[in-house]
Amino acid sequence: MSKFYTFPGDKIASIEEYEAGYNTFDDGNMVRAATVGEKDIDKVTRTAKIKHPKMLSIPRVGDTIIGKVAAVMSSMIAVTIDYINGKPTTSKVECVCSTRNIRKKNVALVNDIVTLKIINHLNGTIHAAMDESDLGVLFTKCRKCGGKVVQMRDAIKCTECSWIDERKLSTNFGKSDFLKLRE
Ligand SMILES: [Zn+2]
Repeated sequence: MSKFYTFPGDKIASIEEYEAGYNTFDDGNMVRAATVGEKDIDKVTRTAKIKHPKMLSIPRVGDTIIGKVAAVMSSMIAVTIDYINGKPTTSKVECVCSTRNIRKKNVALVNDIVTLKIINHLNGTIHAAMDESDLGVLFTKCRKCGGKVVQMRDAIKCTECSWIDERKLSTNFGKSDFLKLRE
């Protein structure tokens, strides 16, 4: 009864018996694995965690990530992480980023490429921020027609239909070759 390999979402313990530790999350009922790894149940501290074979795949507080926006909600976005501190990762871990205090019409759209800083891990969720000048959208498209956009001061303008819109742009917007992340 020592080693069990897990996949993301696997049930590893009941929250009545164990707390969600590193690389796990609590779905309100069960502690589940957030990554592929080795199940590690600590009966002394009553913590269930996952030892990840490649620790680099889980960003730590202070890391800078680049990823694709998976969902846009009223006060936050969810981002699938593709790069951690410039290194590619294939583990497809998600983080969330509050957009509540950002005064932009459309902070980011689904499928935009964004760069964020990891600020904490809370209840198994990885939280990131985008409020520094180099953080924010690296690549986006026109919300109306899907066309290519160019930056105009704080706004963006579509080169196809001339629609003017806003995003929380990174100072690196348009400078990099993140186009290759598109599918
Ligand atoms: Zn357009």
